[in-house]
Amino acid sequence: MTDAASHDPPGPLAPARARMHELAARYAQTLPGLDTHSLMAGLDGVTLNFMPMGERDGAYDPEHRVILINSQVRPERQRFTLAHEISHALLLQDDDLLSDLHDLFEGERLEGAIETLCNVGAAAILMPDALITELLARFGPSGRALAELIRRAEVSASTALYALAGRTEAPVIYAVCAVTRLDEETPGDDEGRPAGRALTVRVSGAAPGAKYSLRPGTPIPENHPVAVALDTQIPLAQASYIPFRSGRRMPAYVDAFPERRRVLVSFALQTRPAKDPA
Ligand SMILES: [Zn+2]
Repeated sequence: MTDAASHDPPGPLAPARARMHELAARYAQTLPGLDTHSLMAGLDGVTLNFMPMGERDGAYDPEHRVILINSQVRPERQRFTLAHEISHALLLQDDDLLSDLHDLFEGERLEGAIETLCNVGAAAILMPDALITELLARFGPSGRALAELIRRAEVSASTALYALAGRTEAPVIYAVCAVTRLDEETPGDDEGRPAGRALTVRVSGAAPGAKYSLRPGTPIPENHPVAVALDTQIPLAQASYIPFRSGRRMPAYVDAFPERRRVLVSFALQTRPAKDPA
């Protein structure tokens, strides 16, 4: 598994994803809370064990009714894995969903579909619809809303970003930007920057209404509000632009919320079709 909720475009798996989301959301509603032990409260007779597991994040053993979690990975990853393994258990209890999946896929594709669905389930458990609705109502589709979702749901930035993007109606692109060492980065920074470090897009995701995407590794120019927010550690919201890797600058309202060494950003596209600034 990965710790990012998968965000593929609609396909043959779309109805199963919707069903899994519903299953997991309903499970989460019955829980006394969303801390580790509360998360297990809805699974009768299943035990939870933390242990070193090498490369694996976790596993669910339906025969012995036990969930194993790798104790050697960071806590937010353990938490997502736990919700993912719970989703495996929920999926195994749903004969209709299982038989639909077996009709659609086989072999490795079936396994891949199941893993994708369990990531969908994990996201639905950890980030209840009501929480996302509340944050969008309070903060709008903003970098601040993304920061709050990461904090309140205790999930990774990418997990929160995909969930928030999926629920945002306005044409918005979200991004997490951070300083990267250039030698770790993909080649292609030809802006004459001093070797060493640059502020780049780490992860990005667009709401369904935004028809653009921002590639990971895209550099943020020094005077852009995202760079200023990182330098000053003060949130900034202003009309600016999306710095596409091609060099194109598309007008957008930028909301940049700095958190120590990263900046959580939303780029709201203009809803009225502007003339192409070519
Ligand atoms: Zn799995």
